[in-house]
Amino acid sequence: MADLRDIYQEVILEHAKSPRNFHALEKPTVKAEGYNPLCGDRCTVYVSLQGDVIEDIGFQGSGCAISRASASMMTQSLKGKTVSEAENLFHRFVGLATGQNGDEKHAEFGKLAVFGGVAEFPTRVKCATLAWHTLQAALHGDREPVTTE
Ligand code: ZN
Repeated sequence: MADLRDIYQEVILEHAKSPRNFHALEKPTVKAEGYNPLCGDRCTVYVSLQGDVIEDIGFQGSGCAISRASASMMTQSLKGKTVSEAENLFHRFVGLATGQNGDEKHAEFGKLAVFGGVAEFPTRVKCATLAWHTLQAALHGDREPVTTE
C-alpha cells in the first residue's frame, strides 16, 4: 500500500479521523445506500431538502480513510446548495477524481482538490466517488443500493 502515501494527505486523514456530518438524519427527504465491494466501503447518505435546497445532509457507514474523508467533505461542500448545484459538483468531482478535468482546474475545488490525487489509482477512485454516487442515487430516488461495480 506504499503507493497510497502520496494521496493520504493531511486533510484526508483529518476528515477520516473526525468526519463531519457523520450521523443519520431523523427525517430525511431522500436517502440512499452505496457499497464499494472492491474495498468494502459502505455508506448511507441522508438528505433533507427544503424546496430544491439541501438544507441538511449527513452520512453513516464504514470504510477506508478515503471513502470516509470524501463523504465528510462532500457533506460540508453541499449543505445549503441547490440540487442542481450538487449535481453539477458531482459531475465535476468525478471528473477530478478520474483525472479528466486537467490539473489547471484543481484550484476551483478548494479542499476537494486533494482527491485529484486518486486519479492515478483506479481502485481508489471508487473509494473517493462512492459517497457522491450514493448522493446522486438519493437525489434521483433510486431504491436499489448503489454499487461501484
Ligand atoms: Zn475504500
